[in-house]
Amino acid sequence: MITKKTETLKKYFGFDTFRENQESIIQALIDGKDVLALMPTGGGKSICYQLPALLMKGTAIVVSPLISLMKDQVGGLRTNGISAAFINSSLSSALIAQVENDFVNGELKLLYVSPEKLISASFFSLLQKGIINLFAIDEAHCISSWGHDFRPEYAKLGFIKNQFPDIPIIALTATADKITRRDIVDQLKLHQPETYISSFDRPNIHLEVRPALDRFNQILSFIKSKNGQSGIIYCLSRKSTETLSAKLNAKGIKASPYHAGLSPSERSDIQDAFTFDKTPIICATLAFGMGIDKSSIRWVIHYNIPKNIESYYQEIGRGGRDGAEAMALLFYGFADIGILRDILNDSKGEKTELQLAKLNRMKEYAEALICRRKILLGYFGEFLPDNCGNCDVCLNPPNYFNATRLAQMALSAITRLNEKATLSILIDVLRGSHRKEITENSFHLIKTFGVGREYPAEQWYYYITQWINMGFIEIAYDAGNVLRLGSGSREVLFENKEVQLVKMLTIAQRKEKETAKEFVATKKSQHYETLFNILVQVRFNLSRNAGIPPYQIFPDTALMEMARKKPIDHKDLLEVTGVSEAKALNYGASFLSAIREFLEGQTNNNPGVTLLLTYHRVLEGHDVEDIASMRKLATSTIQSHIIKLYVEDLITDIQQFISKKEIDLMLAEPDVHSKEVSINDLFEKWNGAFSYFQIRLLQAHLKKISR
Ligand code: ADP
Ligand code: ZN
Repeated sequence: MITKKTETLKKYFGFDTFRENQESIIQALIDGKDVLALMPTGGGKSICYQLPALLMKGTAIVVSPLISLMKDQVGGLRTNGISAAFINSSLSSALIAQVENDFVNGELKLLYVSPEKLISASFFSLLQKGIINLFAIDEAHCISSWGHDFRPEYAKLGFIKNQFPDIPIIALTATADKITRRDIVDQLKLHQPETYISSFDRPNIHLEVRPALDRFNQILSFIKSKNGQSGIIYCLSRKSTETLSAKLNAKGIKASPYHAGLSPSERSDIQDAFTFDKTPIICATLAFGMGIDKSSIRWVIHYNIPKNIESYYQEIGRGGRDGAEAMALLFYGFADIGILRDILNDSKGEKTELQLAKLNRMKEYAEALICRRKILLGYFGEFLPDNCGNCDVCLNPPNYFNATRLAQMALSAITRLNEKATLSILIDVLRGSHRKEITENSFHLIKTFGVGREYPAEQWYYYITQWINMGFIEIAYDAGNVLRLGSGSREVLFENKEVQLVKMLTIAQRKEKETAKEFVATKKSQHYETLFNILVQVRFNLSRNAGIPPYQIFPDTALMEMARKKPIDHKDLLEVTGVSEAKALNYGASFLSAIREFLEGQTNNNPGVTLLLTYHRVLEGHDVEDIASMRKLATSTIQSHIIKLYVEDLITDIQQFISKKEIDLMLAEPDVHSKEVSINDLFEKWNGAFSYFQIRLLQAHLKKISR
């Protein structure tokens, strides 16, 4: 059923259907109720208040904590033809006066403000002069001192309900824990709020964990396979963001570092270049991301393991917000766990125990041999009944083998190294490396030196990790991460107790698998890829000229659908998800002409397409000669197209080629109706007064009316 809500969704946002809970939330607000909405990042929170704002009289006041986010949101609304504005400290007083005026005159559907502005006395008197249809409190968890993002100004927002008891409030957040939830309701004084909790699953994000070995080269080949797509690499320290991006640039890959040590203007330049697709890759510390609205981030790499699952999930959630496929790749190494433990222990915060427990859950995730998404969602209290099919474990299910002999090699080496070797030394000893640290310590003289040289380091790493998880081997985090014998190790060493391990595909083996898959996929979709890349370029050029970020012009998903469906007119374009009326009007033409031009090169594969291309040119009012020269085809070919289009009823009006008066003149000739008279005869009879094309059109016309 098409309702006013779905109609508005299509018209202003270009979407056909609502996502989970969106429609109910919108209805609740229209009914004047307060709402608490919990959705993951990328879940689609904005539409929950933007759409009712459009359907109700007056202006929605949106409280948002970050200036850059406000700017992005308002920009996005405007490209969809919705009047919106923001007020914050970055605006001049003249501009603020203008926005205030627009609000009072009822010319704004949405007004974004910072919390400190909202609670100011001057703003309060302004609010009383306009019509407000709802208040939306974005990032509402900032109200709770329990949360990770507490902002004192948020705590004063309770005044809204006191002053405007009849106006509905919606509080939105991606933080779901119960204490924060209760805090939000209490402090905002929400009145019997309807609470909506969406699934936190983000099925389009592919999850993968790899051993932290030779990370740089792994990242390099990963990025190369991603063909210029946008991504973020999260690093632990400022310094490593800088070294990593310098190393990438040296390899010809454009990347910038981002961290709290840069000046505000440096940071905003880097962020802008990223938003506008000029620098596709950011190597960042955690400081990056909160203020980023970019929906087309296609991958997120964690160079180091994050300290808890909350941060990890929030960071990978920045990928694929448009709903298209995205990739989350985590590098896992024991050394990182050691470093994080040290940091937590040194911080001596009151919650150290809790933080260490959280780090442990993160570690378990990284070492998991069951569906990783189940673990993530389980952490947030959500049960995923089936395996996800889109994580590395689901895609390469564990394959067990008898690894007793391997375990004995490792355990015996640990013993002979007097339990003083770290993981990397142990591997080097097993593989018989003669690097300096080994020979200097005479490790090359022990009996087990080199017994495991037939296995690559990566495999040893993977297997030892499993033994650590099983408890055969322990890591002494308090003694330089050296390895020691754990419980059960004696039975393996001396009693031949069997040890089962999950087999590892080496990176090379995995690559073979992937390349084989990719090769088939590429062959099939070469046309699609080519057109998609053309459309990305069109978007980039438009973005540069208009000063609007590419993803705000059209999301990647819309370009993908265009590349698949190849719309060639305005009406078909509007069918594409994410194409609103305003965007179709403002940007559609460039994309349509790129698609047509692309199709021109493909017509010999598809006779229907060439006909359609002529058809659209006719609709645009071009004459035969024009179309022939535009399409680089013979006039006679275009004429046959037109006749065919007319016969098939695609073109119903031929007056563009032959006037009513001319038709009447021709019909007055009795021979026209005779089947024995040929086109040549008629042409000669009329002495060339009518062209062959016109005569053939007339004949088609007669055939049509006699049907
Ligand atoms: P959040 O604020 O929850 O992180 P957004 O409101 O920014 O998420 O929405 C994330 C992305 O999902 C945006 O690109 C938005 O256009 C898209 N989106 C939202 N609702 C829908 C819908 N009903 N259908 C398709 N895409 C949607
Ligand atoms: Zn899975």
